[in-house]
Amino acid sequence: MKILVLNAGSSSIKYQLIQIPDNKVICQGLVERIGEEKGMIHYQTERHRINQESIIPDHTTGLNMVADFILDSQIGMLKSADEIEAVGHRVVHGGSYFVQTTLITEKVKKVIKDLFSLAPLHNPPNLAGIEVAEKVFPKAKQVAVFDTAFHQTIPEVAHRYAIPNHFYEKDHIRLYGFHGTSHQYVAKKAIEFLAKANTKIISIHLGNGCSMTAIQDGKSIDHSLGFGPMNGLIMGTRSGDIDQSVVLYLQRHLGYTPEEISTILQKKSGMLGLTGSNDLRDIEAASAKGNKMAQLALAMNAYRIKKYIGSYAAIMNGLDALIFTAGIGENSDVIRQLVCTDLDFLGISLDPDKNLVRSKSIRSIESTTSKVKILVIPTNEELEIAEQVFAAL
Ligand code: ADP
Repeated sequence: MKILVLNAGSSSIKYQLIQIPDNKVICQGLVERIGEEKGMIHYQTERHRINQESIIPDHTTGLNMVADFILDSQIGMLKSADEIEAVGHRVVHGGSYFVQTTLITEKVKKVIKDLFSLAPLHNPPNLAGIEVAEKVFPKAKQVAVFDTAFHQTIPEVAHRYAIPNHFYEKDHIRLYGFHGTSHQYVAKKAIEFLAKANTKIISIHLGNGCSMTAIQDGKSIDHSLGFGPMNGLIMGTRSGDIDQSVVLYLQRHLGYTPEEISTILQKKSGMLGLTGSNDLRDIEAASAKGNKMAQLALAMNAYRIKKYIGSYAAIMNGLDALIFTAGIGENSDVIRQLVCTDLDFLGISLDPDKNLVRSKSIRSIESTTSKVKILVIPTNEELEIAEQVFAAL
């Protein structure tokens, strides 16, 4: 089955056409700067790589251009759009309504729309992507894969906040969690790798956004992002955990508006706020040259991850494996080393040489004496979406 996976953002559409069950990427790319003066479309197959500037006024135009590339007589990969049997859409917020991958109907679209207030930056473009795909690929089944779905197994004891009950019951304020597709994918790979279903795993997703999940027997039981995607770890531009009093102080005493505070905490904080850069490669280079703020930021970043490892090992009463994934988790030996130092009390001990090995495949980097496996697993959210769509259909 050929499945087109779409991840529609406010001004971009990422896509991959995947042949399932052989997991072959037929083509992939990105439409970016939609609605701006000059847009850009990238299209890549095994034999061709195209980057074309173009005016792309809206998502419909963008997706039609993708379809034109895929069907092109010279560089295309399909003869007819009808060969695409399903389109899998990444949808960020499924609230408490969607616990699994779901065939899209008018009712499903209405719920995604009702959830706009919970994910104002993500659900609107996700829904736009669905509506455009329905027009461009009318014969294909449209399927939604929700970032929040994997975390719907998090029990009440962990997903509720200690605020008056009506905020939970009436306003649905609770932990929802994000990056679910990535955590689910790497946990599945870890369970295969360990050849053991009953496992206690901590998955550490470190990209521009960062989060950790406690995964017991394959199910998410706690997670570091919460009602929105700001809690927990220090991220590229987001603060992660912060005392709520700071937010009130910014508003009451320093005069910032809620909109400004949101920008400060989500776009100007984290590694960017501490060092002036949100790219970990730059920060590592500055740290190696002796830059004190870069060194402190790396130490703070690893310290926060360590705190979550400790708390998740405690709630699971044990730990079989740690997983590092996404851009930083897969590539930064520096962060992995800082995180795993002085954790032998928990049975976590890194092998420094294995930690330096660069590879695109799953690898374990613990020392021979480590009780806990330390796995580096490349994430693949698009493949996970395609596999979930295939399974659902
Ligand atoms: P996104 O969340 O946007 O998908 P990625 O998973 O691609 O992000 O991760 C981006 C982060 O990964 C950036 O901070 C980048 O600096 C970091 N990164 C990528 N390659 C390396 C590397 N070789 N060493 C250290 N950090 C890296």
